Amino acid sequence: MNYISTRDPSVKVSASKAISEGISADGGLFVPESIPSVTLDEIAALSEKGYIERAKDILGRFLTDFTPEELDSCVRGAYETGFSDKRIAPVAKLSDGVYILELFKGPTCAFKDMALQILPRLLTVANSKVAQGVETVILVATSGDTGKAALEGFKDVENTRILVFYPSDGVSAMQKLQMCTQEGGNVAVSAIRGNFDDAQNGVKKIFTDKRIGDILRSHGKAFSSANSINWGRLAPQIVYYFSAYCDLVKDGSIKCGDKINITVPTGNFGNILAAYYARGMGLPVAKLICASNSNSVLTEFLTTGVYNRNRQFYTTISPSMDILISSNLERLLYSIAGSEKVKEWMSLLASEGKYTVDGETLAKIKEVFAAGYCDDEATKRTIAENFRERGYLCDTHTAVAVTVYNNYRAATGDCTPTVIAATASPFKFSAAVLEAIDGRQQGLDEFEMVDRLAEITSLECPAPLAGLKDKKIRFSGCCEKSEMEKVVLGMIDI
Ligand SMILES: *Cc1c(COP(=O)(O)O)cnc(C)c1O
Repeated sequence: MNYISTRDPSVKVSASKAISEGISADGGLFVPESIPSVTLDEIAALSEKGYIERAKDILGRFLTDFTPEELDSCVRGAYETGFSDKRIAPVAKLSDGVYILELFKGPTCAFKDMALQILPRLLTVANSKVAQGVETVILVATSGDTGKAALEGFKDVENTRILVFYPSDGVSAMQKLQMCTQEGGNVAVSAIRGNFDDAQNGVKKIFTDKRIGDILRSHGKAFSSANSINWGRLAPQIVYYFSAYCDLVKDGSIKCGDKINITVPTGNFGNILAAYYARGMGLPVAKLICASNSNSVLTEFLTTGVYNRNRQFYTTISPSMDILISSNLERLLYSIAGSEKVKEWMSLLASEGKYTVDGETLAKIKEVFAAGYCDDEATKRTIAENFRERGYLCDTHTAVAVTVYNNYRAATGDCTPTVIAATASPFKFSAAVLEAIDGRQQGLDEFEMVDRLAEITSLECPAPLAGLKDKKIRFSGCCEKSEMEKVVLGMIDI
């Protein structure tokens, strides 16, 4: 299977090359040239297996230049230890026909671990095939969770350096602590004065700057990406949608072949895009429901066809979704409308901050996607309601998805069984979660809030978060947007 650029189908590379390079030189994203299909019989057979076997099966269909031994070692290395639940991505029942896919059992307690525990392993194998002897420099722009998950995944991986930029005022206290205390000899972290889009744009610019690329090459280094623009991040996310479906078949909640809906709290459009690919492969999915917070750029786009980033940016209690430019949307547009239109729209997005898709494209989008958004107040109400009435405590991002799903169901009457992606541990966002269920948080520090949350919910704080209390702060720097290039070159000793 080859991978082509969303902006130029004549660019054709292997899976290894797509993962090793992260982004195509023309600024486009790598996509598989065709989507492999999975039959219902195969899904039924996977229902009898565990997560590791499911992952090897699904990933093997995309990463065709990896040997079965290489895949086995990557998948086992990523998921056999390091997750606090043996099922890796367990499914919990919220209410009749409504299921929560818990994607936060990894070492950093957010769904990013699902991909970032395996990406460094895929990248190491990919580089051994296509970029031998080159030191990989991973550049990450993070809205909070990617940064920590990438640092944890790449720490002390040979021949690799990792640099993370996060928006100075756009991450939770716990997220900041997680990153600033990161251990490992090949890691560095910097805040930037700006929001996530500033960080992501800065990183993208450095990536595609030929001059900087040449400087790196002359030092035996090359950039790669751990953001969800890297295909090696997306492919592992397809696995858990199959896995959730298999679990529901296995426990008799649905019959193999029954359709489900999937609701995803969305920021960069990576997680929900993985669900879209799963659907394209033949997973019986009716609707994909895209949930946003007050940064409702995707709700507007998926319902009207107008993408307009020229709007107020809100800092919310679901910071990992505070995004106005959802990079992975480009892959969806490519899949529906092809590269010529993608090029036109992306260039309009860069110059005007806005584009409008044609009616035919919008109609195709609406066949698959529903969308909605909610503000912080509604998010907190949902956290309180779920906890009081169903005994389920969810984090702020997951609560956005639950709220949007409830609204969707009320508006449409669509009662199709639904899987809602739960993307973080509630303890990662203790301040907001505590305020939602207890009405108080003032005066407590981060760890007092965690303790209080544990006390009133009788839940245990995940060990990797509780353990941060005793860690030393290693990184406290903050730079201007304009200084990112200098910081990057400094961090890698050029
Ligand atoms: C990253 C993240 C999201 C958004 O996922 P995308 O793939 O960027 O759409 C949602 N919730 C949490 C907790 C996250 O870390």
